[in-house]
Amino acid sequence: MSRKQAFQFLDLPRTMPQRIPVELRTSGDWGELHGKFDKADAQYQAGRCLDCGNPYCSWKCPVHNAIPQWLQLVQEDRIHEAATLCHSTNPLPEVCGRVCPQDRLCEGSCTLEEFGAVTIGAVEKYIVDTALATGWKPDLVAVESTGKRVAIVGAGPAGLACADRLVRAGVQAVVFDRYEQIGGLLQFGIPSFKLEKDVIQRRREILEGMGVQFRLGVEIGRDISIEQLQNDYDAVFLGTGAYRYTDGGLIGQDLKNVLPALPFLVQNSRIVSGDDPHGRPIAGWEDQIALPDLNGKRVVVLGGGDTGMDCVRSAIRLGAAKVTCAYRRDEANMPGSAREVANAREEGVRFLFNRQPLAIEAGADDEVIGVSVIETELGQPDANGRRNAVAIEGSESLLEADVVIIAFGFSPTLPEWLASQGVEASSNGRIIAGGATRLPFQTHNPKLFAGGDVVRGADLVVTAVAEGRDAAESIVALLKR
Ligand code: FAD
Ligand code: SF4
Repeated sequence: MSRKQAFQFLDLPRTMPQRIPVELRTSGDWGELHGKFDKADAQYQAGRCLDCGNPYCSWKCPVHNAIPQWLQLVQEDRIHEAATLCHSTNPLPEVCGRVCPQDRLCEGSCTLEEFGAVTIGAVEKYIVDTALATGWKPDLVAVESTGKRVAIVGAGPAGLACADRLVRAGVQAVVFDRYEQIGGLLQFGIPSFKLEKDVIQRRREILEGMGVQFRLGVEIGRDISIEQLQNDYDAVFLGTGAYRYTDGGLIGQDLKNVLPALPFLVQNSRIVSGDDPHGRPIAGWEDQIALPDLNGKRVVVLGGGDTGMDCVRSAIRLGAAKVTCAYRRDEANMPGSAREVANAREEGVRFLFNRQPLAIEAGADDEVIGVSVIETELGQPDANGRRNAVAIEGSESLLEADVVIIAFGFSPTLPEWLASQGVEASSNGRIIAGGATRLPFQTHNPKLFAGGDVVRGADLVVTAVAEGRDAAESIVALLKR
């Protein structure tokens, strides 16, 4: 029964589900930081929604979720209807409820901001987890087969969202991925303290139940050619992500115990999930690394984005004695979500702002001894409007470290096997899709569509979901011609 009262937000504070105590997190607990709402808490929090009539939350949400409407259904305990409504805009709602930077999206634009935004992400997670646990499934009874088949390259959020929408439109979706599991960076990137991996397994079961087929451990361009896919299928969606590291060109970056961020996170997530990280390399993964033991070590992470935050928080859970994040601009200009920075601080990470790395220094036996850095101040804005970090002469110092993790970001690349098919990319490697003369998400090859990080550059799960979903609509439009 709904327990909503008028102006409930005045009496009831915003709360999140209970957090794992910091002592457990710092002694190696890899579970999701926040637990789950129970029914009463979910109803109270949903009841704080003012139904303001101007749902900025929905507009700011990249998939435009019908947030006030599903909050209302939660108050009325109509969870299966709420789950159906969630899926009508978002093919992966339980994932987004967990990993979206809500402080920058839906919750950041809630009208109640000064009273504490409605806890939208946690309620979204509650709806879908509860619905799935009580037997809810997508209803595809009215779907009629079109007899068309589409290949999807990449089982990340863009590819999965595209597959979901295609089968709902009666199109057979076959998803190829070079990895042996679905999820892309959801599985092999985002640590389990943000997204536990059984969530992805459960989503796989739902998608397979809907009729989506997966061909895993298959790399397109190596095991199967793109020409073959074009022959065998009516269209192809490319959701191959962004995996080229930004190379800082630092002296010493090739030393042992200097780790690139993503292989570090991937290897670690395989250890945490009980998968054998050393005996069985991930297909197509050239940067397989042997993880050093971080227990008792001094770890310096270079870079202030969300990947850097995942690295510092992983290092803490791996028992590092001291974890420092060095970033070249100030805190206000840090790209990482403020919420993740706060979580990292709470777990004992030290932040050093306005520090530009100069080189990674080695001792007599070529072992890492630290990072030499120089202090910076903010200068003139660059072409993107961001103020440059300008080095302050004479301010060099050494940050002592046993292990250094480099997290400078990623961008996509256009492989030859796509370029040879007429697919074009901009100078920063992003596939060009859509535009005045093409369908949305259609590349320069009319049979090939693309979306997610490979088009946008490294971004967010929810934007990849939005693009996969909308690309499916374009593909269906093409197949109807
Ligand atoms: P991906 O998730 O990268 O999936 C691409 C898939 O394509 C991969 O599975 C890959 O194996 C496959 N593939 C590539 N080439 C081939 C080929 N030739 N043949 C077959 N398969 C191929 N976003 C958030 O919103 N919240 C977060 O908290 C968050 N944390 C992050 C943490 C880290 C460490 C990283 C790196 C990113 C994080 N992101 C986060 C960003 C988010 O994960 C990505 O924006 C999102 O996963 C992009 O989805 P995608 O489907 O475009 O690509
Ligand atoms: Fe908020 Fe993300 Fe859910 Fe949209 S998908 S309502 S932005 S948590």
